Amino acid sequence: MPEASSTKASTPTFADITTMGVGGRIASFVQPHDRVGLIEAVENADSNGLPLCMIGGGSNLLVSDKDFPGVVVRDTRQGISVPDEVAPPEGGDPTVHINAPAGTNWDDLVSYCVRMHLIGIEGLSGIPGTVGASVVQNIGAYGQEVGGLVDSVEVWDRRDKVTAYLKAADLNFGYRTSLLKQTMYQAPAVPDDHFFPTPRYVVLSVTLVLRHGSSARVGSAQLAKALGVEPGSSLPLERIRQAVLTVRAGKGMLEDPYRYLTDWMGGCRRASDLEEALAAVQGDLQGPRGERVLLDRHSCGSFFTNPIVTREVADALPTDAPRYFVDAVHSDPAAGPSLVKTSAAWLIDHSGFHKGFSLGEGSAAALSDMHTLALTNRGGAGSDDLVALARTIQEGVDRTFGIHLVPEPVTPGINLA
Ligand SMILES: Cc1cc2nc3c(=O)[nH]c(=O)nc-3n(C[C@H](O)[C@H](O)[C@H](O)COP(=O)(O)OP(=O)(O)OC[C@H]3O[C@@H](n4cnc5c(N)ncnc54)[C@H](O)[C@@H]3O)c2cc1C
Repeated sequence: MPEASSTKASTPTFADITTMGVGGRIASFVQPHDRVGLIEAVENADSNGLPLCMIGGGSNLLVSDKDFPGVVVRDTRQGISVPDEVAPPEGGDPTVHINAPAGTNWDDLVSYCVRMHLIGIEGLSGIPGTVGASVVQNIGAYGQEVGGLVDSVEVWDRRDKVTAYLKAADLNFGYRTSLLKQTMYQAPAVPDDHFFPTPRYVVLSVTLVLRHGSSARVGSAQLAKALGVEPGSSLPLERIRQAVLTVRAGKGMLEDPYRYLTDWMGGCRRASDLEEALAAVQGDLQGPRGERVLLDRHSCGSFFTNPIVTREVADALPTDAPRYFVDAVHSDPAAGPSLVKTSAAWLIDHSGFHKGFSLGEGSAAALSDMHTLALTNRGGAGSDDLVALARTIQEGVDRTFGIHLVPEPVTPGINLA
């Protein structure tokens, strides 16, 4: 058997490898450098009955400060391949397939696609993390979701111990969910006994299907406003990407790129894309006392999913609460077809928790100053601080509106059900 993986002499803590910068020591950290090594690392952990946590960019994980007694596996494979011609002949089929191993940085992939004039992914610019995790929670923003682009996902099935290709139709994609995520939970935020904090299916690679073209329609009203155009207008892809990055930066919804200069995150992004991301934050760096002011970016992004409630619950909300009718297919079938999605940010704000809210003056765990839905680590917060803040918000929203907020990040060692 070839030497397929390497275990470092010392291991990082979860705080070193997550965007929240929180979490305890790791018993074993393995970084396979090929597909066989990845499967072997996962299979070794499973056959020895050890807890397994696959980690990508660590941007959707809030981990306990307690020691993690198992194996953390990070896929170091990066790369993008295009099996079809990138530029089809005049009048030909504009469809283009694009494949990337799970460890590829997501925004490196988006940036590549935009440069290659591939349409459909530009709205997902600037989302932190990896290609592998993107399909676990079906990342989405500005009217696009990765689930709408997936052709197939190559997985290692930890239960049946085989590799398989899951097609988009098998993956049960819904709002911030997929078949992969569903295998991790018995009920919302209640971990499965076997497959938590990593799904039954470990992603090996993802194939997306995009279209060739140099401009795309701006579907999202918020984005259209930022671009000063009508929704539905067609604009060059690069312009849309830059607008998305600007809007995200204004909400603290880009990760701190300086993390990729640390020992444990170095090499996890393509050098040229990292340079661009670093250049983009130079202007943000000087705080009033010359300190770095990127602390609002140490988060998991949106901490709670937007609740999907029955029509009756939605009717009881104040008239100005946002309401979006949703397809019941991916929701609780018992609730009937009339389901309504409302805004977690609106509920939090209208329960008295405004931007910047914390449980005590100077507390290192606080809501972002730019975005009500992001819990941030202002430096030195522990998992208990973030859990106390999250619970206070859940209880407040429950009390005010009778709606229970479900966390979006995966929370090993932490119960926020
Ligand atoms: C500033 C900020 C902004 C964000 N904005 C958005 C947004 O706009 N939209 C959105 O949808 N999300 C957003 N997120 C959340 C996050 O970026 C996504 O969930 C992302 O896909 C997580 O990727 P990751 O590689 O960091 O996953 P990780 O946090 O490393 O892992 C998350 C989960 O995926 C599992 N996992 C990781 N790799 C694999 C694999 N190969 N196979 C199987 N399971 C795996 C892990 O075990 C874990 O359960 C944001 C986060 C931050 C910090």
